[in-house]
Amino acid sequence: MLLEGKTGLVMGVANKRSIAWGITNAVSKAGARVVLTYQSERLGENVTELATSLKDPLLLQCDVANDDQIASTMGRIREQVGHLDFLVHALAFAPREALDGMYADTKRDDFKTALDVSAYSLVAVSRAALPLMKDRQGSIVTLTYLGSERVVQNYNVMGVAKAALETSVMYLASDLGAQNIRVNAISAGPVKTLAAAGISGFSGILQVYREKAPLKRNIDAAEVADTALFLLSPASRGITGETLFVDAGYHIMGL
Ligand code: NAP
Repeated sequence: MLLEGKTGLVMGVANKRSIAWGITNAVSKAGARVVLTYQSERLGENVTELATSLKDPLLLQCDVANDDQIASTMGRIREQVGHLDFLVHALAFAPREALDGMYADTKRDDFKTALDVSAYSLVAVSRAALPLMKDRQGSIVTLTYLGSERVVQNYNVMGVAKAALETSVMYLASDLGAQNIRVNAISAGPVKTLAAAGISGFSGILQVYREKAPLKRNIDAAEVADTALFLLSPASRGITGETLFVDAGYHIMGL
C-alpha cells in the first residue's frame, strides 16, 4: 500500500481506456483517495459510472484551458479534501487537422491551442495545486511521447507541445524542489486510447513498435500506471525533473 493515507488529483479520464483511468486504478489499489477531473459535461456521465468502483471519489469538471475553472477546482478540493499529496496531468489536445499532413502547414491558432492545452496547462495546474501540496512532499506526474525529440509522422504540433511539456517538467522541478515537490514525466509508448485515435496512421505506429522494440511488443496502460505509482510514491523520493520511458525499450533503438 504505497499510497496509504494519500490523496491525489488525476486529470484526464475520458473513458476506461484512458491512461488516466489506468493510473486511477493503480493509485486507488495502493490506498490513495482520488479526485478526478474531466473536461466536458458529456464525459461526466462516463467518469461518474467508472468512479463507482472507487472508494470515496470526488469528481469535478475542469477545462485546463480555463484559469477560472482551474481555480474553482482547487477551491473545491481545499473545501472538501483539504490538501493534495499528488497530481497526475494526463491530458493533451490538438485540433485534428493539425495531426495530419505536413507540420509546416500548422496554423497559428492550432499551434496556440495545442501548446496551451498540452503544455502550459501543466504549469497552470501545478501552480494552482501548490498551496494544497505545502509540506506534504508532493509529486506531480505528466504524460509525454517520443515525438518530442524525434519526428513521428503526423504527430506534428503535438511533438512540439510535448517538447515544451518535457522542458516545463525540468523548470518546474527546479522551482518546486525547495518545497519538496517533485515533478516528472512518463514517456509512454503508443496505447490505443481516444486521443491516440486522433493521430492518422496510429495502427502503423503500434506495429513498428512491436517489430522494433527490444521487448517485441506494445505496452499497455497498466504498465504506464505502475510507473506512475512509483513516481507518485516515496519509492521514487530521489527522482525529479526526469522523463522516464515506458515503451518496451523502443527509444533506445537506432537503425
Ligand atoms: P485520452 O483517454 O483521450 O485522454 C486525453 C484526455 O485529455 C481526455 O480526457 C480529454 O478530455 C482531456 N483533455 C483534452 N483537452 C482538455 C482540456 N482542455 N481540459 C481538460 N482535459 C482535456 O487519451 P490518453 O492516451 O489516455 O492521453 C493521456 C495523456 O497520455 C496525453 O497527454 C497523451 O498525449 C499522453 N500519451 C498518450 C499515448 C498514447 O499512445 N495513448 C502515448 C504517450 C503519451 P476530452 O476527451 O473531453 O477532450
